[in-house]
Amino acid sequence: MPRNIACPHCGEEENLVGRPGPDGIQIVCEACGASFPRDAAVTCATCGGGDLIQRPRALTQYSRGTQLSVTSWNKALLCNTCDAAMVARSSEGKPIPPHYQPAAAFRRDPESPDDTQILPR
Ligand SMILES: [Zn+2]
Ligand SMILES: [Zn+2]
Repeated sequence: MPRNIACPHCGEEENLVGRPGPDGIQIVCEACGASFPRDAAVTCATCGGGDLIQRPRALTQYSRGTQLSVTSWNKALLCNTCDAAMVARSSEGKPIPPHYQPAAAFRRDPESPDDTQILPR
């Protein structure tokens, strides 16, 4: 198993299983059940670039009332180009919203701006 592969969906790095498939090695994430081609795991799904970084992402839920509590953390894979706004946000110490879908993992239509996915500051 090559190093530095992470699940593009949940950031899992440990519980990944490689399986030979018709299009090459498929990686199956045992943490979330996603499968993805090994070779695509290290490139941005939107621009195809390899300038990717991982940033912590809080998984939150609303407990009683309106109090927001952080229940766990995982890692989001971000593209320094396509997710630039979110990378900058993370660099300011602001958490990545749990619902944010990184362009690095989910191909984004270049015609639609991603601003709507960023919560009010
Ligand atoms: Zn996963
Ligand atoms: Zn990109």
